[in-house]
Amino acid sequence: MAEFCLDCLNRLEGTCYTKWDVSLSWSKDICEGCSQLRRTVICLRKRTIRRQYLGLYDDNHRKSRK
Ligand SMILES: [Zn+2]
Repeated sequence: MAEFCLDCLNRLEGTCYTKWDVSLSWSKDICEGCSQLRRTVICLRKRTIRRQYLGLYDDNHRKSRK
């Protein structure tokens, strides 16, 4: 799995996760997005994934009404 810092993950995924929404590595790694030594995202927490699905649903709903 590619390693990205939280900022790069949000930029790539178009999300706005906070450090509370993800599990970050304890040690610093080179981020593949910005090539800086930063703590990288290991995985999303479960409640985050659920909220992401709800967010996608809201987005589709809004688009279809345009
Ligand atoms: Zn980065």
